[in-house]
Amino acid sequence: MYLNADQLPNGTILQDFDICIVGAGAAGIAMAKRLIGSPRRVLLLSSGMAHDKGLPNPRRQSIYKGTLGAFMQKVDPIFLERSRLHMHGGTTNHFGFWARPLDAADLKPRPGYRAAHWLISQEEFARYYQDANHFGHFGPFNYDDMPFWEQVLLARNFPAAPGAALQGAIMHAQYDEDLHDFQIQFGEELRTAENVTVLFNAHLLEIETSEHRDHVTTLHCTTLENGTRGRDFVVRATTYTLALGGIETVRVLKLAGDLGNNQRDHLGRGFMVHPLIVKAAKVRFAQPVDMLVRNFFRIQKVHLKPPSDGSGVYTPLHTPLVNPEEILESCIFEAWGVLAPTEAALDAEQIGNFRIILSFNTAGDEAEVNLNWEQIPNENSRITLDPLQTDPVFGQPVTHLDWQMLDADKHTAVRALALCEAYLRQHGLVAWEWMTDLSGGAEQWSFPPDEGALATGDHHMGALRMSAAAEDGIVNVDSRLHTVDNLYVAGCSVFPTGGFANPTLTIVALALRLADHLQALKD
Ligand SMILES: Cc1cc2nc3c(=O)[nH]c(=O)nc-3n(C[C@H](O)[C@H](O)[C@H](O)COP(=O)(O)OP(=O)(O)OC[C@H]3O[C@@H](n4cnc5c(N)ncnc54)[C@H](O)[C@@H]3O)c2cc1C
Repeated sequence: MYLNADQLPNGTILQDFDICIVGAGAAGIAMAKRLIGSPRRVLLLSSGMAHDKGLPNPRRQSIYKGTLGAFMQKVDPIFLERSRLHMHGGTTNHFGFWARPLDAADLKPRPGYRAAHWLISQEEFARYYQDANHFGHFGPFNYDDMPFWEQVLLARNFPAAPGAALQGAIMHAQYDEDLHDFQIQFGEELRTAENVTVLFNAHLLEIETSEHRDHVTTLHCTTLENGTRGRDFVVRATTYTLALGGIETVRVLKLAGDLGNNQRDHLGRGFMVHPLIVKAAKVRFAQPVDMLVRNFFRIQKVHLKPPSDGSGVYTPLHTPLVNPEEILESCIFEAWGVLAPTEAALDAEQIGNFRIILSFNTAGDEAEVNLNWEQIPNENSRITLDPLQTDPVFGQPVTHLDWQMLDADKHTAVRALALCEAYLRQHGLVAWEWMTDLSGGAEQWSFPPDEGALATGDHHMGALRMSAAAEDGIVNVDSRLHTVDNLYVAGCSVFPTGGFANPTLTIVALALRLADHLQALKD
């Protein structure tokens, strides 16, 4: 059911919900969608409006303004407003849904590099990734089935050499807005769901707890009307999930007096992005690289026909789709190959995971090298409140983001590109020309407007990390705050490590897992 908060009388009390999800982006909508038809009464608070698509209302978006530490100021001075969208559907309105699951190596500790690791096994993840994969209409969940993808892409990776540090890895993307905007893809199902209420124009302002701060009793919310605070209302539910994105969820907990913080002050610490150098180097080969190899690295539109015989086998279609039924049934998306390190190379090098995208010229004898990699969780990289500035709409202290990198993060970039050069030299590379400058320490990079500038993937991970023990993180294995018995977090703030994969496939998998957990809770 759809409802607008600006049609409620001022002071309304909304109660008798089993599950209240705050935030209708990738994580919140995935949870609500999973709970459709369950015996639970679900309330999804969306800060936006039902018709939202594309760009947010500028006034609502201005709530996301904040201040930055010196390093991020040099890399991307508008990071806080640019890399997230305050609207229905959240930041899915921005993206092309590049997708890949975390690798097995991302889930384990990597001795000599990082102790951080996941509490969820690859087998458990795989169960939820299967379903998350359908959010992108990506067909089978088989990113590692290289023969299948080489057949689909009419391609092959460079021939495998014994002991090679790099290997091919498959990426997917979904550029169809009606699918990658989650509020569009799932809008009709949510609107007609009997047990789910989506409440629009609903902004969470304050979390009220019991005296001992171990139980949420009430959410205090308001609307945005004529550009300013409108009517107030409160929500009472059995459980609450914050799905406000990897930065705003931290801000809301900080505004609640550091709710959920542990004795080692982890709340907001360990913030990670995927650092990125779009133009790291230009490479030249002695002769044009084999067309099949270039096909592997080319972003291609693929059509997969779902199995009609229960075999589970998807059939790649290489002919144009003309039959409307066939188009409707097909999984149509983009897929391509990248280079990534083997697990043995990660262990031997003691570095972060990374991905290299090769973009070939038309002649096929030159390519640009694009690098994206994993950061180490770092306590000094953190989200706090800026006590000197308030947001222009509701007047609450804004976020201060102090993103930092370590020398070890720089080392990953240096080694990743060295491994890439060595690998390509085995396959005909004759010239490697740097486009970026990797000399110096963790704070020295090529910065904009240099063409080899350091940039960030728009992925806000790690500031409410999942941990087994309360002293090591903020949420437990169920994504529940260690210290609050009915408050959960959905989104990539709970990631203990980030790998190189774009995070939303994992965000959705975790959201589905959390929805199942909440549904199964005893009354
Ligand atoms: C340009 C761009 C491209 C991207 N491309 C990709 C990609 O290809 N692949 C990928 O995996 N990821 C990509 N991302 C990242 C991806 O968009 C995020 O990982 C994902 O949207 C995060 O989901 P979320 O639900 O945690 O947060 P969001 O999607 O940001 O949703 C948070 C929701 O909470 C709402 N909200 C905030 N505060 C409040 C409040 N106080 N009360 C009520 N509601 C509130 C917001 O309005 C929003 O609807 C991209 C991001 C950007 C900016």
